[in-house]
Amino acid sequence: MSAEAITISREFPVNPHVTSLIDGESIRPKAGGEDFPVGNPTTEQQISKLREADPEEVDAAVRSARRAFDSGPWPRMDINERKDICYSIRDHLRKNAEELAYLECLNTGLPLHSVRVHVQRMARNFEFFAEVASTMHGETYNQTKGYLTVVTREPKGVCAAIAPWNAPLALASMRIATVVPFGNTCVLKPSEYTPLSMRRMVEIFHEAGLPPGVVNLVNGRGAVTGNALVSNPDIDMIGFTGGTITGRAIAATAGRNLKPIALELGGKSANIILESANLERALDGALAGIFGNNGQQCLAGSRILVQRSIADRFIEQFVARARQIRLGDPRLPTTEVGPLAFRQHMERVLSFVQVAEADGAKLLTGGKRATRPAQGWFVEPTAVLAPHNDARVCQEEIFGPFATLLTFDTLDEAIAIANASKFGLVNYVWSDDLKAVMRCSQEIRAGTVWVNTPMMRELRAPFGGYKESGIGRDGPTSSIEFCTELKATIIPTADAALPRYGA
Ligand code: NAD
Repeated sequence: MSAEAITISREFPVNPHVTSLIDGESIRPKAGGEDFPVGNPTTEQQISKLREADPEEVDAAVRSARRAFDSGPWPRMDINERKDICYSIRDHLRKNAEELAYLECLNTGLPLHSVRVHVQRMARNFEFFAEVASTMHGETYNQTKGYLTVVTREPKGVCAAIAPWNAPLALASMRIATVVPFGNTCVLKPSEYTPLSMRRMVEIFHEAGLPPGVVNLVNGRGAVTGNALVSNPDIDMIGFTGGTITGRAIAATAGRNLKPIALELGGKSANIILESANLERALDGALAGIFGNNGQQCLAGSRILVQRSIADRFIEQFVARARQIRLGDPRLPTTEVGPLAFRQHMERVLSFVQVAEADGAKLLTGGKRATRPAQGWFVEPTAVLAPHNDARVCQEEIFGPFATLLTFDTLDEAIAIANASKFGLVNYVWSDDLKAVMRCSQEIRAGTVWVNTPMMRELRAPFGGYKESGIGRDGPTSSIEFCTELKATIIPTADAALPRYGA
C-alpha cells in the first residue's frame, strides 16, 4: 500500500504505558503491578501496554471524584462557567480530532472515516448536554394555602462509568457528557482492549479547563478494576455500556448496594424489508446496518427479514454486494470494513458459522478469516440464510460482519419475528406504505424504530433498549432524571399553627 494513499494527516505518538489518571495526574506504575498488552488489530502487533488499576488505585480514583463532588468547585460553579468549560471541551476535542481519531483507528481497527464522525459527535454531545444542564428547571407549588413548595434539582454525585471496546470514544464520551455538565463527577473505566484514545481524551478534558477530580480514569480488566469500581460504596450511580451478561452482573452489585443504574446493552435488531420498499435504498441500508463499524455495533441490523415475494432478488443482490466490500487498512479512505478488535473476538465471530450450519442455516457468502489482507483480525463479510427465528444466529448477538437473513410472508409475521427476541434495542423497517410503517412503529417492542434509514441518531430523543437491551435512556429528559436528585423545600408563607408538645 502506498503511503500517500493513507489520508491520516500525520502519525501521533502512542503512550507506551497507559496508566490511570487520577485528580488530574498521571499515576506512576507501582512496583509489582500487572501489565497487559494493547494491540493493533490491523497488524496483530503489540503497540503499548496497560497497567491495571488494583482495588486500592480504584479507591483513590473514587476518593478524588468524591472530593471534587463534596467540596470541589465543579458542582458549586455558576452554570455559565460550567457551560463555558463544556464548550471549551467541545473546542479542544475538535482541535485534537485527528489525534483522537488516529489513536481510535489504530487500537480498534474502526475505519478512520467512521471514527472522525464519532469525534465530531463527541464534541456535539458536550455542547448539547451543557445546554440541557443550563436550561433544566424545577417546579413550584403554592396551591396549599400558606405554603410555597419549591422543587429543585441537584447533581446526584459520583458516577462509575464503564465503557466497551467497540466504539470507545463515541460511547465513553456519551456517558461523561450526560453526567458531568449537571455538576456530577465520575470515574471512567474503559475496556482493557482499547485504552489509547480514552487516556488522551481525559487529558484533553483537563487541557480544556476541567478541574482535577471531575473525570478520573482507571484502566484494567472488568473482573478486577471494573468490579472494584462498581462495588465501591462511595459511588452514587453506575452508567454501563456493554454486553448483557456483564450488565446483569453489574446490576446485581448495584442492587446489593442500592445504587441507581443506567444500562445500554446488546441487541439483535430486526431489519424488516417489505415488498413496498424502495429496494435499492433498502439494500444500501441493510448493508450499512450490518457492515458499518466493522459489524461491531449494538444497533446493528443483524437479523434481516425479507418479504418472500422479493427475497430471491434482494438476497442475491445483498450477497453480490457483500462479496465486493473492501476490507483493508482502516486508515485508507477506500476501506469499508476493517479488522475485528482482537483475536478472541474474531474467533468467536467465526465460530458462529458452525453454529449456523448446525441449526440448518445456509452459508451464502464469507464465513472465513480473510486472506487479504494477509495480516490482521479480518473476517470476510458473511451472510447466512436461517431456517427459522429460533436458530441461534437469529437469537444471539454475534457482533461482527455477519448478517443473518430470514424470509417472511406477511407484515404480521414480520412484526412477530422482530419481537421474538430477548433484546429490544432498535429495529429498522423499509417500506413506502405508511400504514405498514405505522404498524411497525406501534407494535415493535424496541427503544428505536428507524424507518427507511439505517441509523440516524437524534440527540434530542431518548436512546436505549427494551427488554434485555438495557435499563434507562440517554437523552435530555432521561439524563436529567438519572443524573440529578429532586429536592422539595417547603416554606410557610406565614406562621402556621404548631403543636406545642410539653407546653
Ligand atoms: P463487555 O460487557 O464484555 O465489557 C464492557 C465493559 O465492562 C468493559 O470495560 C469491561 O472491562 C467491563 N466489565 C466486564 N466485567 C465487568 C464486571 N464484572 N464489573 C465491572 N465491569 C466489567 O462488553 P464489550 O464486549 O466490551 O462490548 C460489546 C457489548 O457492548 C455488546 O454486547 C454490545 O451490544 C454492547 N454495546 C451496547 C451499546 C448500547 O448503547 N446499547 C453500545 C455499544 C456496545
